[in-house]
Amino acid sequence: LFNCFLSSKPIIFARQLKTTHMTILLLGSGGREHAFAWKMVQSPLCEKLFVAPGNAGTAAIATNLAMSPTDFEAIKAFAIQENVGMVVVGPEDPLVKGIYDFFLNDPALHHIPVIGPSKIGAQLEGSKEFAKEFLIKHNIPTAAYDSFTAETVEQGCEFLETLQPPYVLKADGLAAGKGVLIIQDLAEAKEELRNMLVHQKFGVASSKVVIEEFLDGIELSCFVLTDGKSYKILPTAKDYKRIGEGDTGLNTGGMGAVSPVPYVDAVLMEKIETRIVKPTIDGFQKDGIAYKGFVFIGLINVNNEPIVIEYNVRMGDPETEVVIPRLKTDLVELFLAVANEKLDEINLEIDPRSATTVMLVSGGYPEDFEKGKVITGLENVQDSIVFHAGTKLDQGAVVSNGGRVLAITSYGNDFQEAIKKSYQNIDKLHFDKMFFRKDIGNDLK
Ligand code: AMP
Repeated sequence: LFNCFLSSKPIIFARQLKTTHMTILLLGSGGREHAFAWKMVQSPLCEKLFVAPGNAGTAAIATNLAMSPTDFEAIKAFAIQENVGMVVVGPEDPLVKGIYDFFLNDPALHHIPVIGPSKIGAQLEGSKEFAKEFLIKHNIPTAAYDSFTAETVEQGCEFLETLQPPYVLKADGLAAGKGVLIIQDLAEAKEELRNMLVHQKFGVASSKVVIEEFLDGIELSCFVLTDGKSYKILPTAKDYKRIGEGDTGLNTGGMGAVSPVPYVDAVLMEKIETRIVKPTIDGFQKDGIAYKGFVFIGLINVNNEPIVIEYNVRMGDPETEVVIPRLKTDLVELFLAVANEKLDEINLEIDPRSATTVMLVSGGYPEDFEKGKVITGLENVQDSIVFHAGTKLDQGAVVSNGGRVLAITSYGNDFQEAIKKSYQNIDKLHFDKMFFRKDIGNDLK
């Protein structure tokens, strides 16, 4: 209950809504989930928050549960025992495995809303081919493509010959963000296609491969929250994927993010909404796809024409760590509106300030790295928000527990002011072999 009093809203408001106070269960353990938790505990509607499994950051503001987000039976038992009023899903795995349908189809659970898409809706991320078919069916701009299996690998090679380099090969299924290859050389592209299809380079995820036309332009992401009928477009954000400065080196889960994206103007946003967002939500309706959650649309802006390269069925991480802090609207109220299909009644309020985040990662990431390093200096951070990603509590100390460890988020009147604060606070933080990019936002100046 204490958490609710952190809200900026008057307590009297909390009392008026007493009947709708609820216990919320949040699934996941990254910086994204800490940001959701941070925002939800500010709501007078949140009586108690549990996070499964959470991290050291969520442990400080909610109750962590030693429970896997894909252990549906354990989640069921807990939800009944604790009279959970809502389940919020952070990562894609439980969504693709069908947690929405699991709750809906169980008489003991179906009164509990799950914030996320149905199993079929989650296929937009779970299968690249499903996503491409949805895009084509609903006339949403996307790169030309064809898909192949081990039986049609030779046709796949012939298809590659009809394309211009670079060649884009995408494993159909979930491959932990590693399933997309962009290759300059035709012979190498054919070899990789065989590796994926015949030698299962990405396991079953690459038993089907989408070959796509390469799009040359600037990448951007659009985040949408929908109740399946209406939608709200959330603030824009840009993330920094590569480990090295100047966007070099291996791909990571994301090394930093900035919101808003300065080069997304009203004209481009209007195109994104009318050509992509609206037809996507209308497509859910036409296809009978239940979808009550986030849609994260990956786009490439080719000569001011936004073209879809992917759907994700959850928020991005680290984009959440800059988007959620800019949301003034009560997040639990928003989720309730999603559950009740009343999103059109909500007025979305956005903080006009910029927000930036910088990820502190374990040395060696995204390849081998060590865990269990003691993190010091957390108590010295001023005027930034520390979102924990891969951390845990070990005998009272906060220690690293993953590749991406902490996200340091700051506000500013512009992104330069915000990023300066993040870097000033990072100077106060330490763990053995800590690494971060020093150029987040530099390309936007
Ligand atoms: P995805 O998982 O589909 O977002 O692909 C991962 C990354 O590959 C994207 O963030 C882009 O940088 C790149 N990518 C994917 N599809 C294309 C494409 N058709 N043209 C150019 N780059 C692409």
